[in-house]
Amino acid sequence: MKIEAKSRTARRMQGIAGEAAFQMLSRANELERQGRSIIHLEIGEPDFDTPEPVVSAGIEWLKKGATHYAAVAGVPELRQAVARHLSQQHSVSIDWKNVLVTPGAKMMIFAIIHSIVDPGDEVIFAAPAYPAYEAAIRMAGATPVPIKLEESKQFRFSLDELARNITAHTKMIIVNSPQNPTGGVLELEDLQRLGDLARKHDLLVLSDEIYSEISYGERPASMLDVPKIVDRLLLVNGFSKTFAMTGWRLGYGIVPSDTFPATELFVNNSVSSTATFTQRAALEAFTPDTGKAVNDMIREFQKRRDVFVDGLNSIPGIRCLKPSGAFYLFPNITGLGKRSEVIAERLLNEAGVAALPGTAFGRYGEGYMRFSFANSLENIESAIERIRNFVTTL
Ligand code: PLP
Repeated sequence: MKIEAKSRTARRMQGIAGEAAFQMLSRANELERQGRSIIHLEIGEPDFDTPEPVVSAGIEWLKKGATHYAAVAGVPELRQAVARHLSQQHSVSIDWKNVLVTPGAKMMIFAIIHSIVDPGDEVIFAAPAYPAYEAAIRMAGATPVPIKLEESKQFRFSLDELARNITAHTKMIIVNSPQNPTGGVLELEDLQRLGDLARKHDLLVLSDEIYSEISYGERPASMLDVPKIVDRLLLVNGFSKTFAMTGWRLGYGIVPSDTFPATELFVNNSVSSTATFTQRAALEAFTPDTGKAVNDMIREFQKRRDVFVDGLNSIPGIRCLKPSGAFYLFPNITGLGKRSEVIAERLLNEAGVAALPGTAFGRYGEGYMRFSFANSLENIESAIERIRNFVTTL
């Protein structure tokens, strides 16, 4: 859905696109209600339940009356736990006063961009990309500058191209690793070079690391591993993906001290604060019991990824890289000879497989589809057979 130019719609909303995953989900649900069998590979959320310790704590905190407004920046105990967790994982000491909690990481992205970026500024990001970046940039009156992620580079971007796109108007660079929609993971060297460019041109870096704990190999490098960057780094993370807590709406940012008051003020004036019992329950996310549940989930994702990648690569016209992180496949479908939107539409209607066209992540996504593998192995195996049969009808 895109807002067209209409007299009663604010100009800043015109041309803004929404997250296509939600639209595809509601269309797929409607077909299911009509009795169709649909395999859901469109929405980006773990199919696992929230780990039991977090659920039990949430119920307890509700009973204990954690039902009132929280402080705008978040419950101090949670902010402290986040700072401790990240300081342990990376060789950097994070002050809990720089942790800002929001209802979901998406709100954090929105709050950062709106409190830092001015009309006329340019913001560079690697694309195909999570659509909220471009929407937030445009709504702030700034100019999105996408640079292409290359399949031939395992969906990493060229640092030279990034450097070429920096102008006097560039304010911020957004990076997202592990990445949605490609599953690509940047290496520490990429992030270090990005840090060098940011320092050289006095730019801010928004690093969206929401998939940081969902990877299939070595722990992905974080912008927090880059020396001398924290004063210009806006780190975004949250509980949605790692802890299967999408519906709890809980995200956070590490925001430098000089911009923190403006970003906090944005949260104050928009959502006031984040649900109190949700924040209290999330303290259980950093315990060993929850950690075990998360590891089990990731092991399961890895099995599904391997089966799905092999299955897609056995279908003529489809070529799929094995992603190192997140829970998405981004196969190249140019061999099918049709635009990705046509494939997505027909896959849903004719094969009962709900997935997203690459263009849901911007124009650089043409020629690709995004399949989430946050669904059971059984459903993934059926989806492969449905896609295989569908392709023979093209
Ligand atoms: N960042 C990326 C890259 C995502 O893929 C998503 C969700 O799909 C988010 C942020 C938002 O997460 P949340 O549900 O915490 O708002």
